[in-house]
Amino acid sequence: MNFLEKYKKDFAEYDKLDHDFIDDDKIWSQLNKWENPSKEDVRRVLKKAEQCIRLEPEETAILLQNKDTGMTFEMFELARQLKEEVYGDRIVFFAPLYISDECANNCVYCGFRSSNASMHRKTLSMEEIEQEVRIMIEEGQKRTVLVYGESPATQVDFMCDTVKKVYSVKTEHGEIRRANINCAPLTVDELRKLKEVGIGTFQVFQETYHHETYQKMHPKGTLKGHYRWRLYCMDRAQQAGVDDNGIGVLFGLYDWRFEVMGLLYHTIHLEETFNGVGPHTISFPRITPATGTPFSINPKYAVSDDDFKKLVAALRLSVPYTGLICTAREPDQVRREILKFGVSQIDAGTRIGVGAYAKSAKANELPETEQFTINDSRSLDSVIGEICDMGRIPSFCTACYRAGRTGEQFMKVAKSKFVHNYCIPNAIFTLKEYLLDYATPETKVKGEQVLKHHMEQFKGEPVYQTILENLIKLESGERDLRL
Ligand code: SAM
Ligand code: SF4
Repeated sequence: MNFLEKYKKDFAEYDKLDHDFIDDDKIWSQLNKWENPSKEDVRRVLKKAEQCIRLEPEETAILLQNKDTGMTFEMFELARQLKEEVYGDRIVFFAPLYISDECANNCVYCGFRSSNASMHRKTLSMEEIEQEVRIMIEEGQKRTVLVYGESPATQVDFMCDTVKKVYSVKTEHGEIRRANINCAPLTVDELRKLKEVGIGTFQVFQETYHHETYQKMHPKGTLKGHYRWRLYCMDRAQQAGVDDNGIGVLFGLYDWRFEVMGLLYHTIHLEETFNGVGPHTISFPRITPATGTPFSINPKYAVSDDDFKKLVAALRLSVPYTGLICTAREPDQVRREILKFGVSQIDAGTRIGVGAYAKSAKANELPETEQFTINDSRSLDSVIGEICDMGRIPSFCTACYRAGRTGEQFMKVAKSKFVHNYCIPNAIFTLKEYLLDYATPETKVKGEQVLKHHMEQFKGEPVYQTILENLIKLESGERDLRL
């Protein structure tokens, strides 16, 4: 069957809808209504955000339109506080694993697009996946996101095989314990298959919520050209029981304020449709240059660093319980800044070429196999060291999804602010493993200080004893301990 034919019937169902949950005119009218909010308006929204409640679109519009530097500072400060309250001062680490750059789509901004003749195409074999995973594990990775183009070569059964392969690789020191997926939208049946093989978060980014821009970026006649098939992908995921989902926008395609509103409307739609379960994570990559892709160089809607910080803070305040992911597309100084006010997950030691871990090259040295460029190519160890220098605790925790604390379960835990009761102890255990098995001597020293500091907060609580016992077990060789 022709690849496009495959989803024709599904597309037709969505075409029948009168409208979808993104109303472009309404979003613009909300942004325009609050074009110049007063300090009092912004303060009123901040007051509500203090209570860790998801904001309404007009409230988010006020934050996005705020131009007062003093109030922006207050936004940053509150975003920082909320991040600490909800997620503690831990930062979760992962690294992507590019499985294939074969793609039938033609997204104008992406190096993998089908019309890009300068791209060398490759899909990893199972042996090559094993080789990549071994290297990642030996560097200390425990969590990955598997990335695929959309092509006949990478359909769902193949994806399932790759997930099983990744989980099957064990080395002396460990294994990948959580494989998230970033791929094209799928059908409910296909998503069920992914659930069966135990994926972590299922990520699909809408790229842009603006209908007209979406059509310009994703040519008609390609699978990705269907806006609603992508927009309702997380609804299908929920129907399939895949309740741990990640949404995102590729910033630089359209006005950044509109896109934040789109992310919020998507969150509200999911919460309202699925019993309060919104996205588990939001990603907000900015476009970076890709080989043979003129659009990716200085796009018209490129987001400045200042606006980028503001958008991250606005997201943190608008959806306080959703994890925010900042990838190595961002340079290290930007990552350092936005870590303060909202980000809960980052990648490090990242290589984004297909087969790039085995080539052992830094991602930005492999232009002919890249989808885009990364701007932070430091090793995992040096980023772990830096996070420790900040007094924060790096985490490789994979406990929640393995204990079934996802979707509604996870939301209940998060909303009652108990996340830190699991997350910090689990961060302590996984950082300890990292220090024992992989860290350089300098990072070891920094990490031990961070562990000591974070242990303090549990003194006098019953869990303190368990933490101490687990640390002793880890010292004596046990691994993968979690609450
Ligand atoms: N092919 C699948 C898709 O498009 O959904 C999944 C993987 S795609 C390789 C992952 C994400 O990379 C895309 O959703 C897009 O947001 C991002 N991306 C594409 N081109 C980019 C660029 N030039 N700079 C930064 N990110 C880019
Ligand atoms: Fe293919 Fe995804 Fe790149 Fe679009 S963004 S060309 S679908 S890999």
